[in-house]
Amino acid sequence: MHIFKFALIPALIFFLFLLFPAGSLPGAESASPPSGNPLLSPTGDFTFGSEAILRACWTEEELRGSPEDKKDRPAPPGYSGPPERTEPKNRRAPLPPELRNSIRSVQPPEGEKILALTFDLCESSGEISGYDAGVVNYLRENGVPATFFMGGRWMRDHPEKALQLMTDPLFEIGNHTWSHKNLRKRTLGKIKEEILWTQAEYEVLREKLAARTCAQNAGQGEREKIPALPLTFRFPFGTCKPGALKFLADSGLPAIQWSLVADDRGDDHTAAQLARIILREARPGVIVVLHANGHGYHTAEALPRLIPELRKAGYEFVTVTGLLTRAREVSNFSDCFELKPGDNYRYDFITGVRALPPQRKDRMGFPSPVSSPVKGGDGGEKLR
Ligand SMILES: [Zn+2]
Repeated sequence: MHIFKFALIPALIFFLFLLFPAGSLPGAESASPPSGNPLLSPTGDFTFGSEAILRACWTEEELRGSPEDKKDRPAPPGYSGPPERTEPKNRRAPLPPELRNSIRSVQPPEGEKILALTFDLCESSGEISGYDAGVVNYLRENGVPATFFMGGRWMRDHPEKALQLMTDPLFEIGNHTWSHKNLRKRTLGKIKEEILWTQAEYEVLREKLAARTCAQNAGQGEREKIPALPLTFRFPFGTCKPGALKFLADSGLPAIQWSLVADDRGDDHTAAQLARIILREARPGVIVVLHANGHGYHTAEALPRLIPELRKAGYEFVTVTGLLTRAREVSNFSDCFELKPGDNYRYDFITGVRALPPQRKDRMGFPSPVSSPVKGGDGGEKLR
């Protein structure tokens, strides 16, 4: 485990030198503070979507979706196969040392109460998971920026929803692998497929949107507001291995984990309990993990209980890239885990790769060294 100091100004200078090696460093003599992370956006001037295209391409009703969207659907028989393009046309520059490990949280500048809400849109082989319209609608209605880590298969199976989220300037899209495998047990070849297929699927969808009349009429400037590729990545189950981290870093994708997990996947909590965990654990710089693929229990109902409270306490919501851009330091780790090192080894056990010594069982009956935080919390703690 390592904590790397993330000194923003030296990092900016370093990357400006990389970008302008011929000695043409623009504004290097200026003392003005850097406007953004030069790695994730060379100018610091990034956008996540286009309001004009969002409004031109979908009606209010289409954007609102339906409670039916939340349900899983069975995958048609024999349904599998790669995306129509398996290699993305675009690539990103490799990451610097400070961002090459698994990132769990950041240290914001003194006094900046920023945090990132993230929602996973996981889809494994053999299922077509859902879309939690309640989550997205609440975020939209209340202007809450958030990051959706989207599976490649999920994109392919929900093209309109994927495009709406990609186009909405409030939301950032991250890569959550093609089919939600435990990458710790995959070969490097398979790991690359899981990552690149998803980048490629995003590109294909973005190109299809760009070809629509509604997007054409909005103009090139608006179309280019939608990022060409996902900018960040999240490991399924939070399980990684060094080769996967290296490939991601070389591909310019920071591996984003979380520092606040309330486990909305279990059905043994209420919306109030879920909100209470997050309110109790919230700190400036945390990354919160939740689900929007229909597998989160009471996730949407928890949002009105926690977002106004966090705002009242002075918190500002930002996307993951927004968080990295404003960070003073990034806390990152050479291992991946849920709450503490080793606590996600049970996923290796479940997938038959690693036998664990007998120990406490979790509620699914699997060995688990970590207790679920969902049941805890008396709600009496002050927000920090
Ligand atoms: Zn997931």
